[in-house]
Amino acid sequence: MNQEEIGKFIAQQRKNKYLTQEQLAERLNVNNRSVSRWENGICMPDLSIIKELSKELDITVSELLNARRMSKEELMEMKEMIYCQSCHMPLQEESDKGKNADGTISEDYCKYCFENGEFINYKTVEEAIADSVNYAEYAGFTKEEMLEYAKKMYPTLKRWNN
Ligand SMILES: [Zn+2]
Repeated sequence: MNQEEIGKFIAQQRKNKYLTQEQLAERLNVNNRSVSRWENGICMPDLSIIKELSKELDITVSELLNARRMSKEELMEMKEMIYCQSCHMPLQEESDKGKNADGTISEDYCKYCFENGEFINYKTVEEAIADSVNYAEYAGFTKEEMLEYAKKMYPTLKRWNN
């Protein structure tokens, strides 16, 4: 994380939004000097304010911290490394994972899709895609964006790609 780069990026995004430092400060309920200090790379915005700041600048937190705009695909990949190969839910914890027929933990599927070696939800990829819009908000997408993304991505998952 490069504070100076992040500062420049904040300044650039602020200007893109036609906001002055004062206006941005006011929206965030901080004083003008804070914005100036972030932009000059003197300090980082507090974690508590990063989310709000990203929102005002119309960028994601990942983009802010990486000091550049990123594609949707890139953003999805950054979030987590392992996804359920049926519904694309991130498998962050062992307890998120389903179980194989022999009781061992599945490395591929979540517990909502896979239990005792069998799939327990969707029957077709179309069903899985249609259901994906319910998770749009979690993924930081609008429903339309989620659907578009799901149509491209779900057919590549292990369960659906043969
Ligand atoms: Zn799943």
